[in-house]
Amino acid sequence: MLVVMQSHATEEQVRAVCERIESLGLKAHPIPGSGRTAIGITGNNGAVDLGVLESMPGVIECIPVTKPYKLVSRDVKEEPTIVRIPTPSGDVLVGGTHLAVVAGPCAVETEEQCLVIAERLKPTGVRLFRGGAYKPRTSPYSFQGLGLPGLKILAKVRENYGFGIVTEAIDNESLDFVEEWADVIQIGARNMQNFSLLKRAGRAKKPVLLKRGMSATLDEFLMAAEYVMSEGNYNVILCERGVRTFSDFSRNTLDLAVVPAVKKRSHLPILVDPSHGTGKRHKVLPLSRAAIAVGADGLLVEVHHQPEKALSDGMQSILPEEFAELLAEVRQIATVVHRQVN
Ligand code: PEP
Ligand code: MN
Repeated sequence: MLVVMQSHATEEQVRAVCERIESLGLKAHPIPGSGRTAIGITGNNGAVDLGVLESMPGVIECIPVTKPYKLVSRDVKEEPTIVRIPTPSGDVLVGGTHLAVVAGPCAVETEEQCLVIAERLKPTGVRLFRGGAYKPRTSPYSFQGLGLPGLKILAKVRENYGFGIVTEAIDNESLDFVEEWADVIQIGARNMQNFSLLKRAGRAKKPVLLKRGMSATLDEFLMAAEYVMSEGNYNVILCERGVRTFSDFSRNTLDLAVVPAVKKRSHLPILVDPSHGTGKRHKVLPLSRAAIAVGADGLLVEVHHQPEKALSDGMQSILPEEFAELLAEVRQIATVVHRQVN
């Protein structure tokens, strides 16, 4: 259910409606829009009569939200959500006309590795640095990440170069550390339906980058975002990273068609990850161009200065110089679709 407030409704009126909703044992989610505030209601199983809300001051109407996802839906908020990522060099915005690009290695391997990559990425103008300190690996014998010491290396990258830091949490324990040390909490494809982790991310105070599960339908993807939002964290950035299909020439099939499909249904921004989406270095540039052209709100790209020596995902990692070229092209394409990289 959604309560639509009048454009001139006062803050007190919005608060009174929220309190009334909470008094019924439900959860109220006020979502301010440019024209009006809407209040999403979650926790109802259909048994409660909400007609009473319609007569409250400042309320235009109560409308049922028929989609399984509610807070994620365009019904709740017509205009695109712009997520703000605070960094030492000012906020990076994602969504609306703002494109954000994240670059860096798959995994934090050593301090030297991260500092060298950061040093070479800095002149490109990219503002968000990635690197996994906790790695969810298919094999228990593969490199599992440095853990907390890895997060401290990322903090040094932030301190030395002013990047915002994006890194993955793989369970509730690592999420506590990631929330403390990073700027954006990444939830990986393998954890897209780890519901307790999604709820914990929903209680975090930092934006969440939610990657699509490798076999997740669009509804499942949006429902995962709904989990995060239902706990009160509205700063969710989606990320398409390829799905499993019968197509066997690349690691995954990058589902670029999901971008306009998400835009139609949701106000949330969506990035595209052409690295995991293809698994092959030579496909990263062409798919990055296509992602921006199709309306993505930015990119997540794996970059390594010595891809042949990388402890994970070397095959899909591009060199810093290749990334510089990629970003220059992406900036050009962005202007054609009336957007800009920040
Ligand atoms: C990653 O970003 O390094 C990663 C593990 O991605 P995904 O969860 O999409 O596989
Ligand atoms: Mn990777």
